[in-house]
Amino acid sequence: MVRRTPMPRATVPLPRTTSAPSRPRYTGPDAATRSLVYARDGYRCVVCGTDDDALVLHHRSGRRAGGSSDPTKNSPANLLTACEQCNLDLERPPRRYADGLLVRSWNDPAEVPVQYRGRMVLLSDDGSVRDAA
Ligand SMILES: [Zn+2]
Repeated sequence: MVRRTPMPRATVPLPRTTSAPSRPRYTGPDAATRSLVYARDGYRCVVCGTDDDALVLHHRSGRRAGGSSDPTKNSPANLLTACEQCNLDLERPPRRYADGLLVRSWNDPAEVPVQYRGRMVLLSDDGSVRDAA
């Protein structure tokens, strides 16, 4: 008779119960990048121009598309200062690819002109803005 070693129980990771309300891991830009983008945009929403509302950083190429590990997602060229309302609007149709406010996941945001204060510009990762040719 062969004694079989019992199969080890499959280890199923338990849901974390120790840490307080599960919050998604922060995958956004670091503090230096946030400051750079807000300053570049003059602490105003680049879509409607308001400085009244709470401002957030809009991702032109979404973090979901292409994965959050992609460092270009949090590069200044991919980020725009937006008020909360405009940021929400940008998540809904009409999808504003023609304005460059949204960028397809396979395009480099630094190479896609964006409607910015009434003109089409290219945003660089060093925080500079130049007119699109
Ligand atoms: Zn706005």
